[in-house]
Amino acid sequence: AKYTIVDMETCIACGACGITAPTVFDSDENGLSFVTLDNNQGTAELPEELFYDVEDACFGCPTESIKIADEPFNGNPAKAG
Ligand code: SF4
Repeated sequence: AKYTIVDMETCIACGACGITAPTVFDSDENGLSFVTLDNNQGTAELPEELFYDVEDACFGCPTESIKIADEPFNGNPAKAG
């Protein structure tokens, strides 16, 4: 299984991930992205059909704020990935 989370401390609100993977990433009132599936806790197993978009978003993030790992993040972007 794969999990994703946005490090909102380093996100610069560029909006790219929300265009690449709009089902997974949305932006808050400050434009900072978060994972819609689990309120950015990194605990929701990514549906397989969304994984490639998330991978693209991860590669496309200018600040490497999108983390992907095999284990749940439990709210902590630094935990893995
Ligand atoms: Fe933030 Fe990266 Fe998404 Fe841009 S691509 S909004 S920097 S997480």
